[in-house]
Amino acid sequence: MKIDVLTLFPEFFSSPLNESLLKKAIDKDLLSVNRINIREFSQNKYHKVDDYPYGGGQGMVMAVEPIVLAYESIPKEKNSKTIFLSPQGQLLTQAKAKDLAAYDQLILLCGHYEGVDERAINLIVDEEISIGDYILTGGELPALVLIDAISRHIDGVVGSKTSVEEDSLSDGLLKYPQYTMPRSFRGEEVPEILLSGHHKNIENWRRELSLRRTQNKRPDLWASYNNKLKKEGK
Ligand code: SAM
Repeated sequence: MKIDVLTLFPEFFSSPLNESLLKKAIDKDLLSVNRINIREFSQNKYHKVDDYPYGGGQGMVMAVEPIVLAYESIPKEKNSKTIFLSPQGQLLTQAKAKDLAAYDQLILLCGHYEGVDERAINLIVDEEISIGDYILTGGELPALVLIDAISRHIDGVVGSKTSVEEDSLSDGLLKYPQYTMPRSFRGEEVPEILLSGHHKNIENWRRELSLRRTQNKRPDLWASYNNKLKKEGK
């Protein structure tokens, strides 16, 4: 998958893209992330990219022209989508990340300051996505969150496909509790059943815990899960 990021702060991405699974995915050519510095497309002799809002008000607004010119400089794939990271967008979910992983190309627009001239959104954006109901300084962290969430659904990025399918939220439930060495730590024991070697019993135990902890920790998810089952007549 090819991801093009339109940003005023391309260096923001350097460290996260150079670590762990994202680095491996890029090294293996499963993912490419191209950063486009919007400032380079400013026609202003001081490379200005923002201005005061028409009608007055607080802060500065990112200007339409450099954004659209930067966007136009990107070679487009057939199956491409442009996303504006915005607190006004639909909330990012695991299902949305999975859907987006099917595109050949995603173009991500990162806002900054008070936001982006609405005309840039009208001209180039297909969809707005929010990573949560809070306001961040810019769209760079949300873009990284989106890239990370999507990358887990690209074949070959995570070692085992089952591991992604079993992730919390993939089937609408939270994942069961997990343990590793040692068997005992400060009086906390690994549940006996996990040491039994009885695969069916372990599977049933995990399922039960997954249901129980979704009900306790996330009543909202639990309600959606049950509504889905009802609709499916289960
Ligand atoms: N004044 C804007 C508003 O009220 O909608 C918020 C501007 S915010 C300070 C600057 C930029 O950060 C936004 O244009 C957007 O790109 C990004 N941003 C902030 N919070 C976000 C969130 N929760 N999800 C996605 N992007 C966000």
